[in-house]
Amino acid sequence: MTQADSARGRVIAIDGPAGTGKSTVSKLIAKRVGAHYLDTGAMYRAATLAVLNAGVALDDSAAIGTTVADADIRLDLGDGGCTAYLDGVDVSQEIRSDHVTSAVSAVSAVAAVRTKLVAVQRSEAEGEFVVVEGRDIGTVVFPDADVKVFLTATPEARAERRHRQNLSAGRDSDYETVLASVNRRDHLDSTREVSPLRAADDAVLVDTSDLTLAQVVDTLDHLIRERIVSPASDAPTSKTGVQS
Ligand code: C5P
Repeated sequence: MTQADSARGRVIAIDGPAGTGKSTVSKLIAKRVGAHYLDTGAMYRAATLAVLNAGVALDDSAAIGTTVADADIRLDLGDGGCTAYLDGVDVSQEIRSDHVTSAVSAVSAVAAVRTKLVAVQRSEAEGEFVVVEGRDIGTVVFPDADVKVFLTATPEARAERRHRQNLSAGRDSDYETVLASVNRRDHLDSTREVSPLRAADDAVLVDTSDLTLAQVVDTLDHLIRERIVSPASDAPTSKTGVQS
């Protein structure tokens, strides 16, 4: 690995819609290859919480933009990337609530919000070996990512997974309602004007509908080792490297 390589870090971009198993897969693969995990969805959720806390109307793009510009949104990469902070307060649990989930597509469609959060994401990843999970990572945030993966699955398979997760977490759940919500969020995320959800031209598409979690992780592991660990001098450093 050259000095320039280690200074620029390594990025594995994992994009795709909700319910493809993206978060679970991203966390597992980051652990397996010794990378940090950066959940950009958590940042959009924290921004949404800031907007809701401020009582801003979801159709007021200008006020959403200023509220998020004034908010301090960070993820703690050191603990596996699972702790999200809004103005210094741990909001990791709160950002998973239904009221945040229903508002997040509206907030993340505002251009000023994306500009700010993309800058935070680039700065958090700088010089690190990271698995970055989101919707626009391979297309906008890190167009030069070392590995780009786009996870897909049928809406029915994704709704089924969410529905089961809800039930096993002891939450009330109705499959048809979950399916409608999956379709609604897909539609909003892929038709918005700024950075719509789409696969980068050079992303590897992985359809997870009929794969187990272990099979998806193995597929990604294989891809990463193939593309990042080259036989010669390109072995990453011990802190950030793929362990073989
Ligand atoms: O990944 P998660 O489902 O937590 O993301 C929540 C929402 O954040 C998505 O539905 C999408 O509206 C937004 N998002 C985004 N760009 C990203 C990550 C998430 O617009 N890179």
